Order: sequence, then C-alpha cells, then structure tokens
Amino acid sequence: MSSSSPRSPRAYRGRLLTPLAAPASGSPVRFLDDALLVVGEGGLIEQVIPFSPGAFRGLVLDLRPAVLMPGFIDAHVHFPQTRIIGSASGALLDWLERSVFPEEARFRDEGYAELVAAEFTGCLLASGTTTCVAFSSSCPGATDRLFRALEHAGLRGIAGLTLMDQNCPEALCVPRDEAIAAARDLAQRWHGAAAGLLEFAITPRFAPTCSRRLMESAAQLASDHGLPVQTHVAENPAEVEATLREHPWARDYVDVYDRVGLLTDRALLAHGIHLSPREWDRIAEARSSVVHCPDSNFFLGSGRMRLGDARSRAVPVALGSDVGAGRSFDMRRSMSSAFDNALCLGDRLPVADLFVMATQGTADAIGLGRTIGSLEPGKEADFIAVRFPERVQGEADLLNHLVFAPETATVRRSFVRGRPIHPRPPE
Ligand SMILES: [Zn+2]
Repeated sequence: MSSSSPRSPRAYRGRLLTPLAAPASGSPVRFLDDALLVVGEGGLIEQVIPFSPGAFRGLVLDLRPAVLMPGFIDAHVHFPQTRIIGSASGALLDWLERSVFPEEARFRDEGYAELVAAEFTGCLLASGTTTCVAFSSSCPGATDRLFRALEHAGLRGIAGLTLMDQNCPEALCVPRDEAIAAARDLAQRWHGAAAGLLEFAITPRFAPTCSRRLMESAAQLASDHGLPVQTHVAENPAEVEATLREHPWARDYVDVYDRVGLLTDRALLAHGIHLSPREWDRIAEARSSVVHCPDSNFFLGSGRMRLGDARSRAVPVALGSDVGAGRSFDMRRSMSSAFDNALCLGDRLPVADLFVMATQGTADAIGLGRTIGSLEPGKEADFIAVRFPERVQGEADLLNHLVFAPETATVRRSFVRGRPIHPRPPE
C-alpha cells in the first residue's frame, strides 16, 4: 500500500466523541451530536466543528449515525501469541513454559510467521485498534514479517525483536552478539518506515531471560539510535524472585533495568504490580511509563496494579491487552477490566477516565501524545467510526455502552493518518 495521504481536504460527518489533550476544566471528554471532522493534506486534522450546512465546501463523507472517536491504542501485545489466546495453563512462569515458549518456537518458520502476522493485524483492525506496541518472537525473520504485515495493513505500530539469551528453551535462545546485530539490522530497516508510522523498539523479554551483558548492549543500541524500549516488570511474585536470584547485584527488579541503562524516558514497563515505593519513585524520576494490562493480570492471577501508585507520582500509564494472556484484542475489554481492577482496590473509575486512558493517556505514555490520541486540530487523523444501537444516545450512554457492553458497538471503519484501513479499500 502506498503511504500517500488524501490529496485534498475532506470532511467526515457523524457524532463525535474525543478526549481533550489538555482539558481546561470539567469533563476530559468532548461530545458533539453532529460534527464535521475536517482532514487536510498529509492526514492532519484541520477542524472539528459542529455541523452546519455550508460549514465545509468539499467532499463530505456522511458516516452518521456512527460515532467518530480516536482509534484505540494497544500498548502491550504479543504478536506470536495470537493463536494461544485463552490458554489457561497456569500462572506466569508455568504458562510461559507450557503455552508460550512452544508456540513462539514455531515462528522460526517464516511462512508460519507470515500467516499469523496477517491474522494478528486482522484482529487489531476488527477491534478498532489503529496503533499497537508489539512484541515479536526472538526470531528476526518473524519480526520482519510482523513489520511487513503492519505496513501492509496501514497500521501505526511500535514493535521489536524479543531478546532472550538465558533461562529459555534452546529454540528461542539467541546469543547476545547475534541478537544485537539482528536488532540493529531490523531498526535500520523499520525504524521510521511507512512514512514514520512504524518504529522499532528494543525489547528484552524480561530480566530473568536476559543476561546483564545482553541488556547493557540493548540499552546502548536504544541510546545510540533513540529507540523506545519495552519490557515486563514485577508481574508476578515468582518472577520477581527469579529476577533477584538471576541478578543478585541489583537491589530490586527496577534496579536491574536501571543499572543496565534500560530505564529511559521512552521505556514502557508492562504490569508493575509488585513494585516497592522506591521502585515507583525511581520509575517516576526516570520518566518511564507503565503499561497496565488488567485483563491479563486477572487471567494469570498475577495480582492487581495499583493505579494510585502511578498517578500520585505522575507516572504515565498506558493500557495494554497483553494478548495472549489478555483474553481479547479489543481494548474495550481492557478498559472494562481496568474498571474491575480498580474496583477490587476500592476505587471506582469514571467511565470517561477509562476512555481517556485507552486513547490520549496511552498516546502520552508511548510518546505519541502530540500526534494521536484525540480528535483535535493538528493531530494526525487516526480515528474509527463506531455504530451503536439507535436507543443509545448522549455522551454518558455512549461511553457506558462502549466500555461495558462492547458487543452493542460495532467498529465500522478505521482510518490512520486520514487513510481508510478498515474495511480494506480495493488495491
Ligand atoms: Zn506481555
């Protein structure tokens, strides 16, 4: 697919629901019952205005009664786990051993990787996700296939080669020099590709499966090329123990990443459930982000992330499905699970906060908050059109159905940078 953008401004008419990147006061969400979203050259949003006849002289695509909203952003998802979604084989370490590692080993076959990459992007598109932050397997060929599939689908994405050089099956273990060389090659090929829609992320799986030298070299590569970093932290108590056993030179889990140089302001740390106040303080100082994956945390029985620990320190929080431990690619499931997670801890999150978390909040946390996350002038036009039953009217009702009854709301169309990507236009 060409990465060119619509040549002339055009407008989309519909109801419109968006978070505000900088809400002045009151609601963090703006709702218009009949709006025009005007998209200009380069796929940038020029105007968001209430509809009136003659308000826009140009091509208007009428998407009513659908609701236009920012595309969802999944800040943590594992491409090679697409086919093992719902494998209830135990808590984290057992689940990795029994379900994940055997499946990820199959991705050495590039034909298989290509097939699953197409399924993966299909699942994202069907769910209204327009941006993903994805782990690949440890196989460079499979990672290349993933990037090709993202480019072909027209999705925005950050993805990386999963690094592991110890404590894993031989089929997945890649020695440091080989892994770093492969990561460098993939970064050269894909970082900034598809007119900047794609980024390459340095992706150590997690501390137990990475040697100190591997993590140091990976951090150096991230620093040399200004690459984002993604990994897991403190998801499960047995994982925390394994980390400290493997890296006795560190004072705690976060200190492992800190000392090797991975705790950067572009680091995305998934889970963050079993962290001490010191670790939270350090994450805040380093200006790293945490990715909240509540549906996965329920499924594996990992525990409950305390959102308050992040918010009280202004640590940016993104939302992730964590498929295949998460049970759905649909970020509405993740929003709903985030509500349940907070409720279990005595906090009732307003539905508008959940919507903001999955859109502008996640965009901020992954470093794209000025580019996407809301429908406002100057942003790139990554948006979806969602159809609700006729009886669902008004901001509160729409948000409630969107988040808590996703089966009533169908994603009809998706656009990235103003270009239609779902349903797929004719080639
Ligand atoms: Zn994960």
